[in-house]
Amino acid sequence: MTPPGSILIVGASAAGLSTAEALRRHGHEGRLTLLDAEPHLPYDRPPLSKQVLAGTWEPAKAQLRSTAQLEALGARFVRGERAVALDAGTRSVTTASGRVLRADAVVIATGLTARGLPGQNSQNGQHSANSLNGQDCQDGQDGQDGQDGLAGVHTLRGLDDALTLRTHLTGATRLVVAGEGVLGAEIAATARGLGLDVTLAGLGHTLLGDQLGDVIGALLGRLHTDRGVRLRLGAAVESLTGANGRVTGVRLATGELLPADAVVVAIGSRPATGWLEGSGLSLGDGVECDTRCRAAEGVYAVGDVAAFEHEGLGRRLRLENRTNATEQAQVVAANVLGADRPYTPVPYFWTDQYDVKLQAHGLPSPDAEVSITEGDPEQGRFAAVYREGGQITGVLGWNMPKQARVLRQRSLGAWQRPQPLSSA
Ligand SMILES: Cc1cc2nc3c(=O)[nH]c(=O)nc-3n(C[C@H](O)[C@H](O)[C@H](O)COP(=O)(O)OP(=O)(O)OC[C@H]3O[C@@H](n4cnc5c(N)ncnc54)[C@H](O)[C@@H]3O)c2cc1C
Repeated sequence: MTPPGSILIVGASAAGLSTAEALRRHGHEGRLTLLDAEPHLPYDRPPLSKQVLAGTWEPAKAQLRSTAQLEALGARFVRGERAVALDAGTRSVTTASGRVLRADAVVIATGLTARGLPGQNSQNGQHSANSLNGQDCQDGQDGQDGQDGLAGVHTLRGLDDALTLRTHLTGATRLVVAGEGVLGAEIAATARGLGLDVTLAGLGHTLLGDQLGDVIGALLGRLHTDRGVRLRLGAAVESLTGANGRVTGVRLATGELLPADAVVVAIGSRPATGWLEGSGLSLGDGVECDTRCRAAEGVYAVGDVAAFEHEGLGRRLRLENRTNATEQAQVVAANVLGADRPYTPVPYFWTDQYDVKLQAHGLPSPDAEVSITEGDPEQGRFAAVYREGGQITGVLGWNMPKQARVLRQRSLGAWQRPQPLSSA
């Protein structure tokens, strides 16, 4: 294969920027363009729900690279311009302003879009939320204050969201977080740190139950209630209440009304693929790609948006975590330039809540049997393994990073080769 002379990356955040850097490292000297809908220099998202929201980091500290480092890349950055269409056959991308960018290879790195509550009738100050069946914000467009027609209702995906929410929380006293996943739990923890009165409501029965199962979910629940968060789990959000255009509360399906002067909707995201409708690519839960992260001839996907075939596991995966964005970028860059490398990661994510750092390796399914192998939850430090069918499928560290890494190495190392899972 002749290496592409020009490469266009759509989405210039963690995955897109890492791909650009890896392309240069792998020897691509040709034209390199990065297009992003946001006007900001590339920044990191994990601090948004933690240090940036807490106000301990200025936005500049979340920037991924300095201006000098970005310049040294020798790439053209087109910022504040949204891609609205791709012709996969000619590898042409059309932007919202009508500009057409063509390249020999295109890398899709458009990440996720936050789900918001559906905007519905706003009669009598009642705004139906349709029991948390989320409605999507426009592709790649961050959620807006004033969702559902009410000010004071937020989602959190981008820097502007974090700054708007931060400003609002500074003057607020009662926050309701809708959503019991990672993001909802992190926001609740940060808001408690800011001294707010926080209630977290969610459909699931435990915090992060969908990701980590009920054993760890119950421990997380205790972590939050011990710090003063009120939990309303197993409870759908029925509607929002408002007065004079501002949110005043959240009504649950149980009939309970949770008073609030700020609401964060953290009910999940979906891959930002709306702009790819009609592109000829296969779009399911993300951009569907093969084991090489290739979606079509000369078209690749990377990061949160990419649904790739994991050769070691023999199934399709889409990973929403920061480490994947960087690791997958290395493989995608190599393959764009003619290598033939499968991407076979051991999935990994972390979350910081209060003084706890949780690290999860592998696929810690809620259906797995969980056993603690080291440490003690009562002491605030432990490591655990997840077993399914007698095989270790996941490893978790609760303030025990080193032990979790050792367990991962011992139990999940084989994932990185095209082999079946190891048994313990
Ligand atoms: C608040 C928050 C906290 C997080 N905390 C953690 C954590 O603690 N640990 C962890 O492992 N992971 C965490 N994550 C997840 C992690 O940040 C993501 O996995 C990572 O950012 C994915 O990178 P990406 O480049 O694939 O997507 P993104 O970072 O979402 O970047 C996608 C880019 O594409 C652009 N874009 C979208 N559509 C278009 C379009 N049509 N045209 C042009 N540009 C477009 C967007 O503007 C954006 O810049 C967190 C995420 C968030 C939002």
